[in-house]
Amino acid sequence: MAILNIVKEGDPVLRGKCRPVDEITERIITLLDDMAQTLHEADGVGLAAPQVGVRRRIAIVETEPGELIELINPVITETDGVQRELEGCLSLPNKWGYTERPMSVTVHATDRNGNKVEIRGTGLKARALCHEIDHLDGILFTDKAVEMVDPKDIEFDD
Ligand code: ZN
Repeated sequence: MAILNIVKEGDPVLRGKCRPVDEITERIITLLDDMAQTLHEADGVGLAAPQVGVRRRIAIVETEPGELIELINPVITETDGVQRELEGCLSLPNKWGYTERPMSVTVHATDRNGNKVEIRGTGLKARALCHEIDHLDGILFTDKAVEMVDPKDIEFDD
């Protein structure tokens, strides 16, 4: 496994629409493994392939330590409710803002073995799923933020 470089805002790869994965090759499996290691190293809750320079519809989310969700060609099929929470992004260090996201979502995707999976998420998990899937269409949270916050004014838990 390898730690990949996380591209930052301004890189055009973050603004393109990603292509679907038609075949799960060794390269895709390696990419998933490397993305997981990169996410852990960065201490994030989600990472999308364009953030490591790959224009493919692949994302990972881990809002509970050890519960890594791998998403290939994910589609949001249902949403419910609304939440307004503080959001950040590994590609936009030092930027924080409030977004309005669904309180819960259902996502259909393919896993690394080619099986169709359904993932449900509420709260942070729903937000992370929406955030990562937005990346696959070149959308950043700052496009949706209803209010940006100065990082100096945020009190982080740790
Ligand atoms: Zn992001």
